[in-house]
Amino acid sequence: MSRGILTVVSGFSGAGKGTLMKALMSQYDNYALSISCTTRKPREGEVDGVHYFYKTKEEFEAMIAENGFLEHAQYVGNYYGTPKAYVEEMLEQGKDVILEIEIQGALNVRNLVPDVLLLFVTPPSAEELERRLVSRGTETPEVIRSRMDRAVEEAEFMDRYDYLVINDDLDTCVKEMHELIQAQKNRTSSRQEMIDKMKKELKVRKENA
Ligand code: 5GP
Repeated sequence: MSRGILTVVSGFSGAGKGTLMKALMSQYDNYALSISCTTRKPREGEVDGVHYFYKTKEEFEAMIAENGFLEHAQYVGNYYGTPKAYVEEMLEQGKDVILEIEIQGALNVRNLVPDVLLLFVTPPSAEELERRLVSRGTETPEVIRSRMDRAVEEAEFMDRYDYLVINDDLDTCVKEMHELIQAQKNRTSSRQEMIDKMKKELKVRKENA
């Protein structure tokens, strides 16, 4: 079985990444969503081992020292990191692994794994982004302002990603993401075995001709 594809999904807070990931997981069965470790406290309704593995700062730093993360970063005063073992195991089993992480982590993964697929999710306009943040109804105006300010900074890095995924209609967006990931399987860098097999077969035919 061939190795799975590693994909990183980033996007503005409010772009709808969470909903997109849920839909992608429920509609297709070849994906594995990596669960990160974090030192931030669980939000209401979040479950340890489902949304994140919640760690103390000491536990997190011990995992850094043991080289337990594929990447880790600090975001608004907390650590976030991708446990290495699960990602490796799933890729090995042929699963397509998705990391939903912020930009700094995404660029670190690109340095480590050059053929990772980087996707950036955005709503169709800044107005729509603000509308979505407001309509969640859970954030104060200050939090909404700080997320919009952060989006200005994050937008500077959008062109470092391979593809932009515009989240206008959810179903269209999920389908588009799935197709982008599946197309990655035929990149020459993902098909080295097939390339070697063809080369060998062609040589044998030439010798026997
Ligand atoms: P939140 O606290 O809202 O759940 O997440 C804050 C940010 O951290 C989001 O942009 C999320 O994608 C990112 N994030 C979650 N897990 C990881 C991780 O393992 N590594 C990195 N670099 N970012 C992460």
